[in-house]
Amino acid sequence: MTEEITQAQLKRCGYVAILGAPNAGKSTLLNALIGQKISIVSPKVQTTRTKILGIQVTAGAQIIYVDTPGIFQPKRRLDRAMVAAAWGGAADADRILLLVDADEGITDEVRVIVDHLKSTGRRAALVLNKVDAVKRDSLLGLAQALDSEGIFDTVFMISALTGDGTKDVEAWLIGQLPIAPWLYPEDQLSDIPQRVLAADITREQLYLQLHDELPYQATVETERWLDHDDGSARLDQIVYVQRPGQKAIILGKGGRQIKRIGERARAELERVFERRIHLFLFVKVRENWVDDRERYDAIGLDFNA
Ligand code: GDP
Ligand code: MG
Repeated sequence: MTEEITQAQLKRCGYVAILGAPNAGKSTLLNALIGQKISIVSPKVQTTRTKILGIQVTAGAQIIYVDTPGIFQPKRRLDRAMVAAAWGGAADADRILLLVDADEGITDEVRVIVDHLKSTGRRAALVLNKVDAVKRDSLLGLAQALDSEGIFDTVFMISALTGDGTKDVEAWLIGQLPIAPWLYPEDQLSDIPQRVLAADITREQLYLQLHDELPYQATVETERWLDHDDGSARLDQIVYVQRPGQKAIILGKGGRQIKRIGERARAELERVFERRIHLFLFVKVRENWVDDRERYDAIGLDFNA
């Protein structure tokens, strides 16, 4: 028996779904675990729409994370599609992490998720996040209250922001995953198409630059991606909004706002893709894009959810 064979036999691989209310810190945790920007992190709620995979290669294991949209009670079509995508990701996963903002405690959204897990008989690991922001006593009370639901295999207390405790989560996951051949090449960190990631990066700048001025009814699509011989790329992106007033806000006086958004997005795109980017942004009014099947297909959501 050579060492090589033993190692190969012990290789693990599997899917891990990260569930949690909007703002629990799912994207922050994913980025902390993988150590590279993959999923959009933003102080605003509900910026993650599509199911994003981040892949971590560590200690002989390949962990494929499914970052899900925040789960809440859906009313509109767009919300329903996001919720369906989230539960779909959890149903397919080998293990589920339920991330709870320890500062917020057991909110209605946490209740909905816990009840759903209970009713489907799925077990999860409880991850209390943002321990850097709460007192130790309230943390223990919260851990006990949630543990009494009887659906958690284990409890972690972490700060995704500082990285405190995230290694314990990782170590536990590695031991939990099935022994299986790896599904992705070793150097692949994410399988979201580059166009979608690029659109997400620009969408993040919309949120960061416009703060509360723009409602969530804006979406970005990368319409064209052209690789140049000199290693740079030209990206044409369309920002879809619902009303002319929203277009005016995004453009700003004399086009200053869209220029600033474009500059920031381009800098971030160059950082993430490690190449020069020529970014062309267009703003289009599409009154009913939230009811437009094509827009859902473009961001990977199920129109009929
Ligand atoms: P998501 O909606 O669940 O993906 O949450 P995000 O990862 O986008 O995080 C939402 C907000 O919480 C952001 O402002 C993060 O910086 C913040 N956050 C995430 N993790 C922590 C943490 O461990 N401690 C603190 N204090 N803030 C955190
Ligand atoms: Mg997120």
